[in-house]
Amino acid sequence: MPELPEVEVTRQGIAPHVEGHRIDGVTIRNRALRWPVPEDLTQKLTGSLVKTVGRRGKFILIACQGPVHHGTLIIHLGMTGTLRIVNRDAPVRPHDHVDIHLGGARLRFNDPRRFGAILWHSGEDTTPLESNLHLSSLGVEPFSAAFAGEAGGRLLYERTRGRSVSIKQMLLAGQIVVGVGNIYASESLFRARINPKIAAGRVSLARYQTLAEEIRQTLTAAIVKGGSTLRDFVGSDGQRGYFQLEYFVYDRQGHACRICKTPVRALRQGQRSTFYCPKCQRY
Ligand SMILES: [Zn+2]
Repeated sequence: MPELPEVEVTRQGIAPHVEGHRIDGVTIRNRALRWPVPEDLTQKLTGSLVKTVGRRGKFILIACQGPVHHGTLIIHLGMTGTLRIVNRDAPVRPHDHVDIHLGGARLRFNDPRRFGAILWHSGEDTTPLESNLHLSSLGVEPFSAAFAGEAGGRLLYERTRGRSVSIKQMLLAGQIVVGVGNIYASESLFRARINPKIAAGRVSLARYQTLAEEIRQTLTAAIVKGGSTLRDFVGSDGQRGYFQLEYFVYDRQGHACRICKTPVRALRQGQRSTFYCPKCQRY
């Protein structure tokens, strides 16, 4: 499943081919994604100029200005979605559900399992984009000022006082900070030496400062790595795999901890696997 780094690398990969270009058509082959692709999307988008390609959590936000309509295309990759730039003559493959036409190129959305989504937030809507149903409950961005420096640790600390939910599940819920998915929760908790089972409300401010720093570092490393390995957003015809970092604990159950050689353990928390070192992560 794409996590925030893959979504950010996708955003960076497609942006130069999309920003400043005019949309001259839309092909929808299958509307039945996680939520139906809006009936009037072609009408809303055709003739629009793409202003910016942004991101909020794992949603890619494509701001469009048309002669009549303006608004934001909201795209989520779900479990198996990809966005690629292809030539307009590129053969259509299975699961290529939606094409946005940009002159000679197409922004193509492929999604075998169809848990992804393509939605439209109208600029004429009285609700601002950040209050959109899909975006309003998201926590702060890990690279925003609200999570920078000591603000990140303080935010985690203040928002978790009195909470008995485990720190791992608090991170996964994404209500305080977004983008710490299953891989990066295990990895950043290991790097901060925090036990994933501890109640979020029992973690000290100093520990949260360390954790916030490790969250930023693990996500940054993944984005840098992804940016260097996944250049091929243009004309790619193979399925690109999601990038693999050298993990400390994630998916390493039974293998020796890279720091202390103790076997890495796995446990289930809220139906998701957590990986940790029982010696390095005692607190
Ligand atoms: Zn260890």
